[in-house]
Amino acid sequence: MVKKGYRLKAEDIVLLLLPLVFLLLFLTRPGNQEPVKQPSADKGKRGPEITLTVYNPNESLIVEAKLEEYLVGVVAAEMPPYFDLEALKAQAVAARTYALGRVKGYYGSTASHFGADICTDPGHCQAWISKERFLEVYGGEDDWARIEKAVNDTRNIVVTYGDVLINPLFHSNSGGATEDAREVWAISESVPYLQSVFSPDESSYPDYEKKQLYSWDEIAEKVKTKYPEARLPSNVDMEIESFTVSGRVDSIRIGSVSMSGTEFRELLGLRSTMISLNFPSAESVEITTYGYGHGVGMSQCGADALARDGYGYEDILKYYYSGVEVEEIAQ
Ligand SMILES: [Zn+2]
Repeated sequence: MVKKGYRLKAEDIVLLLLPLVFLLLFLTRPGNQEPVKQPSADKGKRGPEITLTVYNPNESLIVEAKLEEYLVGVVAAEMPPYFDLEALKAQAVAARTYALGRVKGYYGSTASHFGADICTDPGHCQAWISKERFLEVYGGEDDWARIEKAVNDTRNIVVTYGDVLINPLFHSNSGGATEDAREVWAISESVPYLQSVFSPDESSYPDYEKKQLYSWDEIAEKVKTKYPEARLPSNVDMEIESFTVSGRVDSIRIGSVSMSGTEFRELLGLRSTMISLNFPSAESVEITTYGYGHGVGMSQCGADALARDGYGYEDILKYYYSGVEVEEIAQ
């Protein structure tokens, strides 16, 4: 259905043809008004035809999707297709766990979803890509078929802790050890399955290490934008004050200001909080980051490395999520 005043675009036609989308619910009107939604009789239905509603903010579209078909697009968007099949399966199970958790109302607000269960914004829920777009940008039919196999071979499998779906956080590369969730987010209680674990063999991946040179003035300017009262001398004056258990920056001092590693990472747009500092001169700072992402939960590069060492997807998931069960969805 196309609302009066809405001009159909080429991308909309592609979407209409997607096998994933078996029911097009609505296209929003100009002005970012709330999309109208058709009630679904099958929402969250158990068994072989679990469905969910997916909000795509890029298209201002809400569709009702079959879970397993939707998951192929998630794995395709979230993990390189050339990773080992067992790593792709681990990603599929994590994506399924997250999607079903969203259907159950876990993981925080869905105010941005216009009532849909989940969205395709990777900064909020999890990424998703259409097969057409994947073939244009990321890989071939063979790659897509491998991802489909990863999803099909793990059909209905999820990760639980104490019979409850976990929050299957993941990141690209741990830099050698994953992080305890409490070190990244201000949560009062420990999350038992999101502990720090060693994650060797990630150094061969491009995301492992990055060196970047900053001028002291550039760093001082960024600190001043957030802390106008900061006292910052004309020459380099910064040091790491403490580390977390995984070796990431817990606290770092820049001039008169101390901040958390997470805050420093955001301020400079660094890949991770696992960093080392080098001072080539009195006016410059070389920052080396190890790993990519917040470091909590499953490392994708680590999952691939473990898979290449012979780990199956269940072993991979249990390696990164401490004390969990990998099992079929409870009926
Ligand atoms: Zn979302």
